[in-house]
Amino acid sequence: MINAPYRRRQAALGLEQLATLARAQSWRQDGTPSLPPTQAAVLRMLQGLGDGLRARQIAERLGVSAASLSDSLKALEAKHWILRVPDPDDRRASFVRLTPAGSRVATQLQRPDQGLGSLVEALDEADLGALLRVTQLLVHQAQEQGLATGLRTCLGCTFFRPFASETPGKPHVCAFLGVPFGDAELRMDCAEQQPADDVRRLGSADRFRQPTPLQAE
Ligand code: SF4
Repeated sequence: MINAPYRRRQAALGLEQLATLARAQSWRQDGTPSLPPTQAAVLRMLQGLGDGLRARQIAERLGVSAASLSDSLKALEAKHWILRVPDPDDRRASFVRLTPAGSRVATQLQRPDQGLGSLVEALDEADLGALLRVTQLLVHQAQEQGLATGLRTCLGCTFFRPFASETPGKPHVCAFLGVPFGDAELRMDCAEQQPADDVRRLGSADRFRQPTPLQAE
């Protein structure tokens, strides 16, 4: 019988192997630029945000240091894919926005057959839900360990009500949208997300971890 530490190590190895694949971008063969993960993540994050984001917000969401992000922003600026616009509320800060060329690259990067998306394409609805569920928990754990802040997941959202619905196949509720939804509809990056305070976040995580649906809140 394989013991629990060995099983956990196998799971961690699987994640590390996928992270290595993502860094190598080895399956990208259609001319989409092969970018370091942080640069690609910045372009994806800024896509659709006309006003852009402050560098501090980008660093928080990615869980990288300001110095590390600064290098990535300089590289993207040198490619003319982003520009910085003065922040009217803070003379020392600026907003980072995509240029039209940067927006085109971001669109390419977001195609479902790109990067890890090409692997996820093969998953059926049940496996997709399982992956999203586990990913929510892993991001939550990363936040608890101080590895990342500012990620806009359902599990970290003040509107998330896990197992608060009795609708078959849709056990969770988004109190912002007022609708029940299932694991396969969990969001990893939701524009409407509002960070939950510590009490709600930890309570949601406890409830979300339950193997069977609890009674509705
Ligand atoms: S607002 Fe977005 S992140 Fe929050 S619960 Fe609803 S869908 Fe999830």
